[in-house]
Amino acid sequence: MDWAKERRCCLGRVALVPTMGALHVGHLSLIELARMQADEVVVSLFVNPTQFGEVSDLTSYPKTLEQDKARCEALGVDVLFAPSADRVYAPDASVWIDEEQLSRGLCGGSRPGHFRGVCTIVLKLFNWVQPDLAVFGEKDAQQLRIIERMVRDLNIAVEIVRGEIVRESDGLAMSSRNQRLSKVARADAVVIYEAIELAKKWVEQGERSTEVLMQGVRDRLARVPSLIVDYVVVVDDVTLEPVEQLGSSALLAIAVKLESVRLIDNSVLRLG
Ligand code: AMP
Repeated sequence: MDWAKERRCCLGRVALVPTMGALHVGHLSLIELARMQADEVVVSLFVNPTQFGEVSDLTSYPKTLEQDKARCEALGVDVLFAPSADRVYAPDASVWIDEEQLSRGLCGGSRPGHFRGVCTIVLKLFNWVQPDLAVFGEKDAQQLRIIERMVRDLNIAVEIVRGEIVRESDGLAMSSRNQRLSKVARADAVVIYEAIELAKKWVEQGERSTEVLMQGVRDRLARVPSLIVDYVVVVDDVTLEPVEQLGSSALLAIAVKLESVRLIDNSVLRLG
């Protein structure tokens, strides 16, 4: 990208915020974080086909380009990068980035090939934009840790900045997919946040067995009969390996389906 060379020669720090569009306040918080730490902010909007398993999930992914543009302009985004899929991938593309440890469980377990698609597109975006820093949300906790690992293992000169999860007023983590929920499912979806808050409370009250915590979370989620649990896990925050007893902190991660809409959420469980 000629733009990248020009900007890097003449202006200061460049930040990239990769997104799949349908921007909501969670995305905007990452843009604001980027704005605070860089002179130039680039937002990419690309619904990356190689990270989707089910075709229906890809085709039904919400697209709100005009609204996204207006939101980015209002936040002073310098460059909006929204390439078409045929510009991004050569028809005979044959080189991919595979992370082999952190991507084995959680979403990687249920969505084979997902993180291969994610790592490949993120590295391609880094090569295009050549940012000094890139901002990713804690909402996708596994993705964030995999990107950090990729940056470490491939010596990529990009600083990864973590953005906190932004929630709706009832606690549901903001997601582009939320708009696909019916009114009833949207109301039911709050059970995910309730379950997380309960788990935090049990930890505060002294519970250390992750099996007990996970079962408690599953029981709470079961209050919504139409909700299908993909996974409820408590894993080491760095290795993403299961832990049996809580040490100083661990990651509680949840993935469910409501009306065939996949929703994920997480929280770090901390002692003391
Ligand atoms: P997506 O468009 O869903 O691929 O997300 C693009 C970026 O926004 C990723 O780094 C996500 O982790 C982040 N993100 C999505 N939802 C939220 C949220 N509710 N709070 C903070 N960051 C988020």
